[in-house]
Amino acid sequence: MGEYEEQEQAEKTKDPSISTSVLTAPSASTGSKATVAQDTDLSTSPRAEKITEKKKPVIGFFTFTCCEGCLFTILFIDKITELLSNFDVQYFDLLNEKNKETEFDIAFVEGTITTKKEAEKIKIIRKKSKMLVALGACACQGGIPAMRNFIENEELKAYVYNQQLLEDSIPAQPLENFVKVDHHLYGCPIIKEEFVEFCEKYLKGKEAKEFEGPVCAECPRRGVDCFLKEKIECMGAMTRGGCNAACIREGIPCIMCRGPLPTANFAAEVKLFEGFGLSERDVMNRLTRFGEAFKNKDKKTESAVNITANKNQ
Ligand code: SF4
Ligand code: SF4
Repeated sequence: MGEYEEQEQAEKTKDPSISTSVLTAPSASTGSKATVAQDTDLSTSPRAEKITEKKKPVIGFFTFTCCEGCLFTILFIDKITELLSNFDVQYFDLLNEKNKETEFDIAFVEGTITTKKEAEKIKIIRKKSKMLVALGACACQGGIPAMRNFIENEELKAYVYNQQLLEDSIPAQPLENFVKVDHHLYGCPIIKEEFVEFCEKYLKGKEAKEFEGPVCAECPRRGVDCFLKEKIECMGAMTRGGCNAACIREGIPCIMCRGPLPTANFAAEVKLFEGFGLSERDVMNRLTRFGEAFKNKDKKTESAVNITANKNQ
């Protein structure tokens, strides 16, 4: 029995409810200034020592409930083969013939946790990984699958083919509700350049920092022909930036796929959009489209969301 298997066995003995087989199971305030923190130099850290060793960093890509769009985005990166050749890829949910259960330097994880089984699996992955990176809106905020939190279980039965799934079901939640997340790559899907930058910095012994300002900070319309002046509901002011205002550059208002800033002023946004003629329900739908927008709460938003979510607990 190898070291990894022994460890798995020990864990099983410790907590019989955690099955190792889950690792192999296939998974069906506006206008604030942008601040980009400096990279942290890790050259003196134990992690940097590891990187400079000849052994390539071991990485894995894992999927939970989602459309798998973030992993596909990674596969569609130009020169992805070249980039990944710097790593030892031992697990990739979309290419699962080559998967190997082992310990990981980095676990990249996409998807929302929606079942008790998934909650167990993410805890095992966390234990096996030095660093865990959440990929995309589903992993970071709950994403599109978190819509189920706003539908009562009785109604949900009409849409779910396998009724047994509902028995194992829990409210859809981001990874952070179960395990520590070391880094977030936001978006629906993630942005290729951010993934590449993260990997390149890691290989150099540096740690990429998350963008801290709003989408407005990178917006070409800011102060010129802002959508809001035309009473078009753009959510850039309360949304985490770092996407280079991608949608707005294509003429489309921001729909907050990167989630709300910790300082997002929900009350002001609700009032503003109601002033544009949207009903409260329309505003709520926009605020909760990608999951836990309500995490940063104001009373009005929180109560409306919780009424529905609590029914499903
Ligand atoms: S168009 Fe949207 S993102 Fe751009 S400045 Fe206005 S509110 Fe901000
Ligand atoms: S502009 Fe908004 S919706 Fe578009 S990618 Fe950026 S955060 Fe997502």
